[in-house]
Amino acid sequence: ADKGVVKWTYSTCGYCSTGCSIEIGTNAQGQPVASRGVGGADVNRGKLCLKGIFEYEVFEATGRASRPMVRDTIHEAYAPTHWDTALDKMASEIKRIQAKYGQDSFAIVSTGQILTEEFYTLGKLVRGVIGTNNYDGNTTLCMASAVSGYKRSFGSDGPPGCYEDFEHTDCLIAWGSNLPEQHPIIYWRLKEALEKRKFPVIVVDPRVTIFAQNADIHLPITPGTDVVLQNALIHVIIKEGLEDRDYINANTNGFDELAKEVENYDPTSAAKICGIDEDTIRTVARLYGKAKRAMSIWTMGINQSTHGSDGVVGINNLNLVTGNIGKPGGTSLSITGQCNAMGTREWSSCSGLPGYRALEKPEDREEIAKFWGIDPEFFPKKRGLTETDIFPAIETGEIKGLWLVATNPMTSMANTPRIRKTLEKLECLVVQDAYYDVESSQYAHIFLPAGIWAEKEGVFTNTERRVNLTRQVKQPYAESKSDMQIFNELAKRFDNGKVIRFPERPADVFEEMKQLSKGRLCDISGMSHDLIEQKRGIQWPYSEEKVADNENGSQRLYTETATFCYPDGKAKLIPLPFINNNEIPDEQFPFWLNSGRLVEHWHTRTKTGKIGNNNKFSPIPFMEMNPDAADEMGIKHQTYVRVTSRRGDAVVMAMLTQRVPRNMVFIPFHFFDCVNRLTLGLLDPYSRQPAFKQSAVAIEHV
Ligand code: SF4
Repeated sequence: ADKGVVKWTYSTCGYCSTGCSIEIGTNAQGQPVASRGVGGADVNRGKLCLKGIFEYEVFEATGRASRPMVRDTIHEAYAPTHWDTALDKMASEIKRIQAKYGQDSFAIVSTGQILTEEFYTLGKLVRGVIGTNNYDGNTTLCMASAVSGYKRSFGSDGPPGCYEDFEHTDCLIAWGSNLPEQHPIIYWRLKEALEKRKFPVIVVDPRVTIFAQNADIHLPITPGTDVVLQNALIHVIIKEGLEDRDYINANTNGFDELAKEVENYDPTSAAKICGIDEDTIRTVARLYGKAKRAMSIWTMGINQSTHGSDGVVGINNLNLVTGNIGKPGGTSLSITGQCNAMGTREWSSCSGLPGYRALEKPEDREEIAKFWGIDPEFFPKKRGLTETDIFPAIETGEIKGLWLVATNPMTSMANTPRIRKTLEKLECLVVQDAYYDVESSQYAHIFLPAGIWAEKEGVFTNTERRVNLTRQVKQPYAESKSDMQIFNELAKRFDNGKVIRFPERPADVFEEMKQLSKGRLCDISGMSHDLIEQKRGIQWPYSEEKVADNENGSQRLYTETATFCYPDGKAKLIPLPFINNNEIPDEQFPFWLNSGRLVEHWHTRTKTGKIGNNNKFSPIPFMEMNPDAADEMGIKHQTYVRVTSRRGDAVVMAMLTQRVPRNMVFIPFHFFDCVNRLTLGLLDPYSRQPAFKQSAVAIEHV
């Protein structure tokens, strides 16, 4: 083949949660030289977006870390060292800190990027061996509100729908989701469905995104007021008798309480708060209420809010009231962020125990302890701190040591000036990453070089619960090790690590997970690595019985034959009074600050910032500003401005565009020392997810 490819290896894209099947081509020397989409794969049908097309370049990108490094203080240079030295030092620091300050004084923050077998192994290490309760993932910045909202409405996490629902729906609302840039292949699936059969697409977003430009109706909502719009839509649906009474009576609790609450949200009153005119609210409510099958999707515009969890419950309320859960084209589908955000939810133990088990349930603690061969008393009886609460706990001195696994809070957390000071206070910071130049490593005492996605074997779960496989394309770069190998080798340095079994082969870890999944919502007991590759991904639940019956995966949850996860099998309709608690623009800081992703980049650019074909399209940070607002201030297109908030300031190039309203600016979140110097990041009370999109800023000439 051209580029000298002699072998193609099956994998799943390691960037976003779409979960595209991808093959990596290697040359005669075993070097990755090409990527291509896998034809016949259910998700992407041979297609890839820009990131996937050039993904083979990440293996050898600049900044790959080759050796472990250690130092005593962050003011001296790192010294390269051997693995045993680095892991011995790490184990002794964890033990020292826990002995001196208490078991939970060492915290761990992982990621949505590593393989599911690695999440399970890390969970075993943290919950069963190290024994700290302060363990979380960077998914708290991303999907925590979706998890919390699903649990509150349905009794469990787990997105009920799938991409194929686009092909059956009669109306779609996208809440705070710029699908063409964030999930280009899911958008392509939607466009494909629309070409076959037209149905109304409504986009709720304060910006005129590419998705909004292509929608039938754009609702430019006031930031942070989604719950008001949701309540108003349900108000109209009930007033006009468009609710599905049979479905409500058979499958839900709480309708009367919800109906009473939404009485307060007539379109006239709601319009004054959410900024959408009352006639449009009525039009959208009728479209959704009258559609035979209607679906909602959402991303960070809902999740990253002080009302994130309520926003998800509001979407679920809308769908339950109209009978749109569990049927083809009728669903409430959170579009996940990272490639394995779902894998961490199912198997990582961040918020509980493997297989959607809860620390709070004695029977769940007993079951896992017995399976691992340890005393159940070793487990905490409730969840510890989330990522967003771990950093304040470092400030107060409650936490003295931190291990970051493939996450980069120096760029991704809100209010990074505060995060910088926080990291400086740690007695021990361990950074485990594929790239040594990740910004958070500036503050580390120990750096562990890790393999990237296709230098390892294992599975990811995508947005539609599809478990898909990555085969190992090549060995980890230089002396780096797979994350699982690092976890296994660290475990051996602790007492319980000699009691609990830590299999070395990913396929053996998967077998353990299969046993623990039997009878759970996320049952994967019928799967194997080989079968997953053969089927190009399988959606859970997929039990052994399904294999016996020769069935494929489960496209939907909560169908006519499957009940919700509350003990009585019914979903909850939950009243959502709106509380206005955002940082609102004022005279001193007159603009809303919004942030989000660009199609070219992935998160904090540790990978895409080094790939020429991604980076050259978007090499520097910029700020979208409305031309009328800029004109008033004498700001010209492509000139530099200083953006200031109550947290800090950043200098960015102004790009004048009608995409943002007069009172809003937008800055992409990928760049170091930029938008997150400004964000406040108030937390959602249920999910502890930060509001990245609702801060107030001032603009001035540089
Ligand atoms: Fe990868 Fe997402 Fe692009 Fe698919 S859409 S190729 S999963 S980044």
